[in-house]
Amino acid sequence: MITVNFENTDKDLCVICDKPTITSKMTCSDNCHKKFVEFCEGQYGISKKVVDQTTGISYKVPTKDIIEKGLRWKDLTNYPRWEENEVA
Ligand SMILES: [Zn+2]
Repeated sequence: MITVNFENTDKDLCVICDKPTITSKMTCSDNCHKKFVEFCEGQYGISKKVVDQTTGISYKVPTKDIIEKGLRWKDLTNYPRWEENEVA
C-alpha cells in the first residue's frame, strides 16, 4: 500500500516519505519515484487517454511518461492511437 502526500508538492518534500527533495522533483529518490509511479498507475491506470484538441484524435500515453517527461502536445503523435472500443 503506497500513500502519497500531495500536500507536499508545494513544500519541496517527497510525496512518498516526507523527506526534503534536493531538486524540485516530487520525490527524493529513485526508490520513492518508483513508488510514486506505481501509485499513479494504480490510481489512473497504466495508460491515459489523451485527446489532441486540434485533431480530435485520442492517443494512448503511458502514465509513467506523463509523470517523468510531462506531456507535451507535440509528442502526442509518437504514441499509439487509442482505439475507440478500448476502455479508458
Ligand atoms: Zn522519498
